[in-house]
Amino acid sequence: MNPDELLRRHRAVMPGWIALYYERPIELVRGEGFKVWDSEGNEYLDFFGGIVTTISGHAVPEIVEVVRSQAERIFHSSTLYLIRNQILLAEKLVELSPISGENKVFFVGSGSEANEAALLFATTYRNSGEVIALRGSYHGGSYGAMSVTGQAPWRATSRSALDVSYAINPHPAYGPLGPEEAAGDVRNLIETATTGHVAAFIAEPIQGVGGFIEPPPGYFRRVKEILDETGILFISDEVQTAFGRTGDHFWGIEAHGVEPDLITMAKGIGNGLAMGAVMGRAEIMDSLSPKLHISTFGGNHLATAGAFANLNFILENGLQHNAREVGGYLKRRLEGIANEHEIVAEVRGRGLMLGVELGDAVAVNRVLELCRERGVLFGKGGLRGSAIRISPPLTVTREAAEEAAGVLESAIAGIGEGGR
Ligand code: PMP
Repeated sequence: MNPDELLRRHRAVMPGWIALYYERPIELVRGEGFKVWDSEGNEYLDFFGGIVTTISGHAVPEIVEVVRSQAERIFHSSTLYLIRNQILLAEKLVELSPISGENKVFFVGSGSEANEAALLFATTYRNSGEVIALRGSYHGGSYGAMSVTGQAPWRATSRSALDVSYAINPHPAYGPLGPEEAAGDVRNLIETATTGHVAAFIAEPIQGVGGFIEPPPGYFRRVKEILDETGILFISDEVQTAFGRTGDHFWGIEAHGVEPDLITMAKGIGNGLAMGAVMGRAEIMDSLSPKLHISTFGGNHLATAGAFANLNFILENGLQHNAREVGGYLKRRLEGIANEHEIVAEVRGRGLMLGVELGDAVAVNRVLELCRERGVLFGKGGLRGSAIRISPPLTVTREAAEEAAGVLESAIAGIGEGGR
């Protein structure tokens, strides 16, 4: 079946609002490392990595072998039984945790579910349904996760069990406030727009869907001081920023010198396997007792076997270090492109999570089309779809980064000065 026929059949059976990239959507059928192939045999450099998910690369033999041998034995039993890989994985995550004291982990099947669980734990522990989120954030598609999503295109409903206030995002795209004033807005919200007894503040260390926007230095630290005055919990949504993606640190929030109370993760944890987790201070994680809670597929045999192999691969192969080295090189290269081409308004992000702001969604689409024709897949993002998102697997080489940057530069030049 060719892609045109597949698209026709997709449209017939899938809801109309499902977004697909490219005028002629692509069907990927194979991957190896940071390369992927479509159903027509075209090869691409994968510089989006399944929306920041493919962290160790595609079809990594060390991970494939573990998943295969697990699949031959048992996919799934139940979290009502002991699952060895779940425990090994949780122990390793706790070892790597930036949260001091005793930590516990709860496994789920996705990022939305991880945030849903973290919000449940935080609101139960604090006995408050009030939460502060950041404008421009994306936390998922379920009711709770969507209600803390401060980004209009992804707010299909305003209905929620939570009372959410949205703090000003300290990025120029959202307003003129610097880190100190924007943190002051969190205090202002607490004092003027809530009961004063707020459960949690939730934020992504680098906003993913929001276009790889990272708050300026000092912002999160100042916010944390304000939260600490009344015991408000800090939830770091690390669905995109964990596992070394940001290069300098294993967890994205560490770059800001802040110790969160809860961390949510998904995407990179399973390198593509459906998987998510919440990790946090034991007393918060335990606070649901004596109520029960379960996620049927959370931490199943197959996902945890793969995730444990993935985590070992990340650690044993120094992927965080590679993200820092190659990411640093790529960022400098992108800044060079920005100097040469007026349409590039900003280069941002860290490690292998880099955003190129064009300020114009039409231009982004045209650049993405040209890059695809020239063999490189990038993502797009931002409130208005005006940013290019670059997030290859962390195994990517400097040579591949140079090739991808060259293609991006030629595409940006290709849409021309009048390209806006
Ligand atoms: N949090 C963040 C930061 C995300 O980027 C996403 C997904 N884009 C989610 C949560 C939701 O994850 P999922 O789609 O796996 O439910």
